[in-house]
Amino acid sequence: MPDIGFVNGRFMPLEEATVSVEDRGFQFGDGIYEVIRTYHGKPFQLDAHLARFERSAKAIELSLPWSVHQWATHVRDGITRSGYAESKVYLQLTRGAAPRDHVFPASAKPTAVMTVREMKPMDSAIQTSGVAVMTMDDWRWGRCDIKSVNLLANVMARQKAKQAGAFEALFIRNGQVTEGAVSNVMMVKAGRVLTAPEGERILSGVTRTIVLELAHKEGLPVEERFVSSDEFLRADEIFLTGTTVEVLPVIRVDGKAIGPGGSGKPGPVTKRLQAAFQRLVG
Ligand code: PLP
Repeated sequence: MPDIGFVNGRFMPLEEATVSVEDRGFQFGDGIYEVIRTYHGKPFQLDAHLARFERSAKAIELSLPWSVHQWATHVRDGITRSGYAESKVYLQLTRGAAPRDHVFPASAKPTAVMTVREMKPMDSAIQTSGVAVMTMDDWRWGRCDIKSVNLLANVMARQKAKQAGAFEALFIRNGQVTEGAVSNVMMVKAGRVLTAPEGERILSGVTRTIVLELAHKEGLPVEERFVSSDEFLRADEIFLTGTTVEVLPVIRVDGKAIGPGGSGKPGPVTKRLQAAFQRLVG
């Protein structure tokens, strides 16, 4: 079976899936999305992803065309149809197609899109060695808690990171570290795990929640508060969390080595949480 497309309730090969040029997702970024991966062929944390999808929809005053239960059925159906050992499911809902006008259209029907593609796991060598990141101004809008398809700032940030030879861009707003362009970020200081609090400044990651729960289970103290970029650079350890990156050690920030004693190597707490996460999904 090829990659799967789905538009407004109908499955088809991905290359046949199309939406109108007047779709408000295309013209305004007026829509929301989710990315869900499978482990052992089963969608991981599907309920949490769909709950966030529902929250994002509500925040932009968009009604979901189906119940969360029906969405879950579509997602599972898509995964089965794809036949891949592991799949990556992309869900998107926009305010639909209508003549271009910023104001919500009176009668447009939302456009629901899903794609299912093969999920290729991250290179295990990178998971082991860790990655370099660069910091930059958080130039996104004020509602980063909404998983909006309006990703231009994230796209620009990731491109700049790539050009600088970094894996991820980490955003700094008013001197405080918020999150990555496609991930949440956590630091470890004196055995404590610190990460930005939930709220409008970050996307509350599904993986973030899981990793914080794992930290509690491992007996690691957790603090959800903002840290300044100075404090961040003095971290004992730093790591990213996210659906695609899982738990990924950061070994360099803006060229400065991070890790025990400035070693530029993943630290013990990161490795512990990484192992706990792998046990959970394995
Ligand atoms: N923060 C941002 C800006 C993201 O785009 C993502 C994932 O796409 C995350 C955090 C991590 O979220 P999750 O763990 O739900 O994948």
